[in-house]
Amino acid sequence: MTDPAASAPPGDAEDDASAAAGTPEEFDFVHVPETDQSFENALAKARDGDRLTVDDGVELLTTGTDRDGIDPVRKEQVLEAADRRRAEVVGEEVTFVANVNNNVTTACNTGCLFCNFKNTAHQFESDYEGEHTGFTKTVEESREVVADAVERGVYEVTSVSGLHPALVLDEEHREVLESYDRPAQQVDYKPPAVYDTDPGSYTDQIRAMSETGAHVHSMTPEEAYHAKRGTDWSYEDVYRRIADAGLASVPGTAAEILVPEVREVICPGKIGTDEWLVGMEGAVAAGLDVTATMMYGHVENEMHRAMHLKEIRDLQDRTGAITEFVPLSFVHGNTPLYERGLVTGGASDDEDELVIAVSRLFLDNIDHIQSSWVKFGDAKALKLLNCGADDFMGTILSEEITTRAGGGYGEFRSFDDYVEMVSAIGRVPVERSTDYRTRRRIDPDDGPHGPRLGPEADGTPLLGRHAKDAAAGARADD
Ligand code: SF4
Repeated sequence: MTDPAASAPPGDAEDDASAAAGTPEEFDFVHVPETDQSFENALAKARDGDRLTVDDGVELLTTGTDRDGIDPVRKEQVLEAADRRRAEVVGEEVTFVANVNNNVTTACNTGCLFCNFKNTAHQFESDYEGEHTGFTKTVEESREVVADAVERGVYEVTSVSGLHPALVLDEEHREVLESYDRPAQQVDYKPPAVYDTDPGSYTDQIRAMSETGAHVHSMTPEEAYHAKRGTDWSYEDVYRRIADAGLASVPGTAAEILVPEVREVICPGKIGTDEWLVGMEGAVAAGLDVTATMMYGHVENEMHRAMHLKEIRDLQDRTGAITEFVPLSFVHGNTPLYERGLVTGGASDDEDELVIAVSRLFLDNIDHIQSSWVKFGDAKALKLLNCGADDFMGTILSEEITTRAGGGYGEFRSFDDYVEMVSAIGRVPVERSTDYRTRRRIDPDDGPHGPRLGPEADGTPLLGRHAKDAAAGARADD
């Protein structure tokens, strides 16, 4: 799965926000935050709009390698430069999308150490006698979840899942995998009959979600690798086949930190940096838009962060298809990295602000930088909109929320929430499509607010649709 840590409560990180991540010395990294550049020179280049080097990025991320810790005055200088750049590039609009999460399964054998999904695939087998808290959805269950959300006004479904051994690209892929002598050991494949629930195939899952009319944002490079395992098919071929089934765009998660020595620590079972980049280029070659991410605040240092930004900027130079960059602050609670003492917490507030700001300044070829309220909580996510970010994520309606609508909404933001928060900082709330090509400015005075870009959206608040229907039904009964 791309970044299941995103599903953990943000409070886990905030409780211990001041704790530092593991230091480079503990891991004996080759790449450390040392440069021949000065903070002043790097800041001057950033202010002038010059393209930044990795060393420039390190100086800005550290507020100068000539000093220990974060210098508060220098930090404000970096944040101001980034906020000014944001205003020049995208103006005062703050965008968000009406979306729903529909993850198909938590079953996975990859064993990433930052992952808080602890369900190895064996636990989902019919003869497993223990208990687990994971889930797998059938194709029909996925269709129902997304159809309900579309009916409520959602535009996009984001779907990122564990690498279930029974999940295959399509029936042709299944035949290839079943031709292996020992498919479980050789290509991480077991037939659906082994499991309590059959997840179907990637193409069937994507088709079911797409047939509801939703924009399907799914199939990270890691999932695409799983969808081509055991074959010599290219990423482009695989993505074309999934696009034919209805895939509309690709989340650039599973990137974590694109530096091999960091991946060896946090996700040794995952595809490597080069494979991730080839996967992304395959998606673009198949005609799909992509996003890009960075998960930071674990074992990596500022040099790794700057090197990651360079990989993303180079990828954008080659493809021009990255619609947004999403910095994801590591949520350490319940992860093996934390439980094994490899990290003591996540990124500090200063680090979060600097990562957003330097992402804006370094990525001169990507227009949109996201502030994730799931990761940061509302107050901090709003602050980050003044540090270089301009996108405020999505509503993240979920099945759990819709089934208990009216209770505590948990990980959900209504359009009214969005409009109120964005207006409060003097910016302009804008509903967007996944690819940002369709935008709708929202008049704060014209509430209550609901989405209008989804195939069935009519401006009714997302959780209000069924209440309205129920009221209409009650009137009809009268
Ligand atoms: S172990 Fe890795 S690949 Fe598997 S669900 Fe977790 S993050 Fe994704």
